[in-house]
Amino acid sequence: MTPRREYSVILRRALATLVRACASGVLFTLACAGTASAQQRLPPPLRIVIAGDSTASEYDASRWPRRGWGQELPGWFDASVEVRNRAQSGRSARSFIEQGWIYDVARDLRAGDLLLIQFGHNDEKRDDPARYNEPQQAFPLWLRQYLTLARNVGATPVLLTPVARRHFVAGHARDLHGPYAQAVRALAQQEGVALVDLGGASLRWLDGLGEDASRDYYLHVPAQNLRDNTHFHQRGAAAIACLVVQGLRAQGLVAAARQRRDIDCGIPDHADTVRPGASRVARDGDYRRAQPAPHGGGGTTVAYPLFDDVADLDLVLRRRVLPPGAGIGLHRHTHDEIYYVLSGQGRYVLDGVTYDVGAGDALLTRTGSHHALHQVGEADLVILINYRRK
Ligand code: MN
Repeated sequence: MTPRREYSVILRRALATLVRACASGVLFTLACAGTASAQQRLPPPLRIVIAGDSTASEYDASRWPRRGWGQELPGWFDASVEVRNRAQSGRSARSFIEQGWIYDVARDLRAGDLLLIQFGHNDEKRDDPARYNEPQQAFPLWLRQYLTLARNVGATPVLLTPVARRHFVAGHARDLHGPYAQAVRALAQQEGVALVDLGGASLRWLDGLGEDASRDYYLHVPAQNLRDNTHFHQRGAAAIACLVVQGLRAQGLVAAARQRRDIDCGIPDHADTVRPGASRVARDGDYRRAQPAPHGGGGTTVAYPLFDDVADLDLVLRRRVLPPGAGIGLHRHTHDEIYYVLSGQGRYVLDGVTYDVGAGDALLTRTGSHHALHQVGEADLVILINYRRK
């Protein structure tokens, strides 16, 4: 151990002792005020424990790209949040308890923690008596055990409706968990328990993605001969985790201060702001046109004024190819503009100073500046030009 490391260990131990002493009331005054302010950098610790099934559970690297949403959840939070993912593949609300997995949850839970409860996928398995729960009586009865467990230790139970399976009819995502999701909603209402309608949110998310695009988010992996519309590819697990965090935030269960990723996931309930065909993909070859060098520059250039056929677009994005001998002449700016060099070499003049530029260089020109750019060497100089249309 180097002296420097040793010192940091000693310091950490001393600090821990001090924090314990402060907490127990043995010490107070200035020393404690100091540690309190050090701790204020993070919100107080919060533990999130997950009881659920294979859609949430952990998978090791050998199962890649299979992941559960509970596995992706920690990525949304800072170090003040600890996620204990106790979800178990193949379990229903009942078999999770009968097989003793509930004891792991009980050991983890402390006052102030959140217990996320998501079952239904395996409770629906009518042909399997060890897991099946009919939705009206048995399913909510088993779910109540989780609520009781959480409340007994002063933790907050959160019921989640089962995440959607990928099922499309006539181009729209259709719910397959109906009575089970309904049972979760009804139980939450009866018991005054927080509800995250993950089933509803994930169904809207699926519908927004569409039948084709959503395949990549579930476990469709041709190389592994997988066509699974229940379990998630890593990118699907991450998207669902985002919806879970969105739901927790909406319920005021997790503070924004603990978050380190955005929750702008999914789509709004009413996607009627979309103008069909307005957003699209184009090939730049469709826009190719030979153009004299702009602003009195030399030679001839090729311009690709992308989407200049969209009348009300307030962006200009143009690729310009400057073959040997071509250039953009000196001109003064009445708007902000960025050039980005894709390939080739150039000499760039900005406000009287000359620069050698090449691939990866980004050139910002603010209003009032003047600039010029000339191709250099054997290869075409290719740039992207971006400014706001006036
Ligand atoms: Mn310019």
